[in-house]
Amino acid sequence: MLKKIIDGKKISKKLQEKICLEVKKKIKFGNRPPGIAVILVGNDSSSKIYIREKQIACKKVGFVLKCWKLQENTKEEKILNLINKLNKDLEIDGILVQLPLPKHINTNNILCAISYKKDIDGFHPYNIGKLCQKNPNIRACTPKGIITLLKKYKINTCGLNAVIIGDSNIVGKPMSMELLMYGCTTTITHKFTKNLKKHTKNADLLIVAIGKPNFIKKSWVKKKSIIFDVGINRMKNGKIIGDVNFKSVYKKISYITPVPGGVGPMTVTSLLENTMLIYNKNYKI
Ligand code: NAD
Repeated sequence: MLKKIIDGKKISKKLQEKICLEVKKKIKFGNRPPGIAVILVGNDSSSKIYIREKQIACKKVGFVLKCWKLQENTKEEKILNLINKLNKDLEIDGILVQLPLPKHINTNNILCAISYKKDIDGFHPYNIGKLCQKNPNIRACTPKGIITLLKKYKINTCGLNAVIIGDSNIVGKPMSMELLMYGCTTTITHKFTKNLKKHTKNADLLIVAIGKPNFIKKSWVKKKSIIFDVGINRMKNGKIIGDVNFKSVYKKISYITPVPGGVGPMTVTSLLENTMLIYNKNYKI
């Protein structure tokens, strides 16, 4: 049974161990540890959990993570000033502004203010543009994590019919660029897509990033397809479940990521990898 499960947790652990060894080596040679600056604005409870996960991962691999917790009513200008300061900070390799931001703040202004050289989330227009050119620089973490899993499981994507549900800037759109780069025929669908089932039933590779628990069921998926469930849905009983009804589709498909333990851990690991990439550009030893 386990053969079908793409174990993001296991792969993530191995990759983080590799990063940890690399960091130890750098420090042994007299360099400072890699540094991440995180900015959290407001009180979004999911954001706090995501930041906690990133803090734990950074500690594990030996990165320094500095967190700025700003009040919900913080002015955009204050955040821009902080980003400006962090852009110049020689001990900070990567800057991350936790999304979503409060409504009075223009998210695009904030993401553009982060130097593309320190954009560990890969959301800056420069980095998105590089990905569109099939010449990626720093890549958005969740799509990058999914590509890493496809490679680790030796799944050949060339020529696959890939369908992505969800067109967000952080998952769906960069995912489509990644899959184009890896030879898929790619369709992005969203809440206005007509007859969604027609698309999903034709997908060799299905990426689901909606945020609706158990949305995808057996009759919606193609036989022997590969499914990546990006959705994170916190239920009232505290359980976390995905957008795909795992039990219902399991017998029909060939691979699937579980929730939790699939895509989520890889997102965090990709963030660490992105930081390491920038750090290594700063220290060529
Ligand atoms: P979002 O919340 O910005 O947008 C949701 C997307 O789903 C939109 O494109 C919308 O058009 C689409 N959608 C909504 N209802 C739909 C329907 N009935 N049919 C088809 N499409 C529909 O998206 P997001 O920020 O990419 O997040 C999506 C989910 O992925 C959330 O559950 C989020 O928590 C999760 N997420 C997980 C990770 C991870 O690391 N596992 C990372 C990012 C986001």
